[in-house]
Amino acid sequence: MRRHASQRALILELESAQDQLICVSQLDRLTGLLNRHALISNLQGMLSSDRVSERHLTLLFLDFDRFKIVNDSLGHEIGDQLLANIGQRLQTFVNRSGMGVHIDSKNLAARLGGDEFVVVLAEHAEQNVQRVVESLAAVLEEPYHLGETQVSSTASIGIVVNHGKYTDANEMIRDADVAMYEAKGVGRGGYLVFDTPMRERVQRRQQLEVNLARAIERQELRLVYQPIVCVQTGHLKSVEALMRWRHPQDGHISPAEFIPIAEESGLIHKLFDWAIFESCRQLLTWANSIEVAPTCSFSLNLSPRQFNDATLAHRVQQTIEDAGIDPTLIVFELTESVLMSEPKEALRILETIKRYGSRIALDDFGIGHSSLASLHRFPVDFLKFDRSFIKDIDKNRNLASMVNSISVLARNLGIVTVAEGIETPEQFVAIAELGCDLAQGYLIAKPGSAEDIVDFARSRESKVPTSTGANVFKGRWENSIALMT
Ligand code: C2E
Ligand code: CA
Ligand code: CA
Repeated sequence: MRRHASQRALILELESAQDQLICVSQLDRLTGLLNRHALISNLQGMLSSDRVSERHLTLLFLDFDRFKIVNDSLGHEIGDQLLANIGQRLQTFVNRSGMGVHIDSKNLAARLGGDEFVVVLAEHAEQNVQRVVESLAAVLEEPYHLGETQVSSTASIGIVVNHGKYTDANEMIRDADVAMYEAKGVGRGGYLVFDTPMRERVQRRQQLEVNLARAIERQELRLVYQPIVCVQTGHLKSVEALMRWRHPQDGHISPAEFIPIAEESGLIHKLFDWAIFESCRQLLTWANSIEVAPTCSFSLNLSPRQFNDATLAHRVQQTIEDAGIDPTLIVFELTESVLMSEPKEALRILETIKRYGSRIALDDFGIGHSSLASLHRFPVDFLKFDRSFIKDIDKNRNLASMVNSISVLARNLGIVTVAEGIETPEQFVAIAELGCDLAQGYLIAKPGSAEDIVDFARSRESKVPTSTGANVFKGRWENSIALMT
């Protein structure tokens, strides 16, 4: 009899241990939410349900925007605490009813891993979904108190509403991930509902990424060069290298499309290594050409993403040195966004590049969050007014007076100004009057081959472009020209 009782106790204990095991294998250890495996099996169950109402649901894919920064700067322990707090808020949110919409006990919250979470709501009316997402975003935006620290974080949210089309849980999660990815592109804290063109865009990106990885070996990349001239004399002062990709099937693919893919995938480092090597090779060839050498400088574009590579400055220096090129001839063009994510690291890299003798151009000035403060924060040698700024320069007085004031300020700081995207003689005359030092654009020359640059330099040595009217200002720009030579 006694043996019987103890056996029963043992069985009960075993059963409870087994329950716990099942529970643990279904739950994410850090947050206590469902893990990926449990989410998929629960969701699959709902999508396969005989009851239509159960299949009609909405899935939200959440990715926290600044999680990596929190983790890197405050440490993994705080990072883990943040994730646990997010988990709690999501669980409370899905458990709660009310909020003007029906929130059901069938709602799920899961952590897929890292800072990626999924919420499943028994809801499929789109107006309601929007309201729920907004209230969820508000809940998540509230500051998190983690020990001594207070952290705020927004989430980018991709949304898939199932009106009955989805039968596969993985497919639904994947589409929501695609929408989240697009939402992130729009800016922090955004949300977007999935649609089919999104998937096509993502597929094209993935395809391009695969092809881009092979483009260097297959010799599908080349550099073209666009002249930058002195506004006053018309002489060639600099050349900007721009990358071109000719894909054997898809033909010419614009850098505006493939550079962001290269940045995202990390391929940008490889592309840049190729570009700087190729540039040095080209500079050595030009060195024999009296028209281009030795006063002409050479610009290369740097992506913001490259600044998370601490070896950047060293690699640049090594390549230039190995080629035996004078580093002062090289200008690196970059936009202010490099100062956004890791400003200290970016500045350290820039200062190393400067110490080495190369120069820095602030590119695309006038778009986004351009601010004059950058001119003080950056060790800048050139400021390039963006094409969008220059487009209406001859018609818009406000723009003109801004360009003029900035040019005066730049000159006082010893910074040379460049007007990009000059397409008409009127624009050229306007920027000359407003005090820009250098000009670049289709009016002067489109990006061309290395031979085109030699021809261009040759043609410019002998004559000043009288057709543009720039010679009217002759004699007033010695200082800026001196800076360039
Ligand atoms: P960006 O650095 O601002 O380069 C100037 C862009 O304006 C080039 O476009 C050039 O062809 C174009 N452009 C020049 N003059 C005119 C004009 O008068 N009118 C018009 N409509 N456009 C003009 P592209 O070559 O398509 O390059 C686009 C962007 O892609 C570049 O903008 C740069 O941000 C990026 N990019 C190109 N090559 C490289 C590279 O080697 N590395 C990196 N990181 N980015 C690159
Ligand atoms: Ca540029
Ligand atoms: Ca530019």
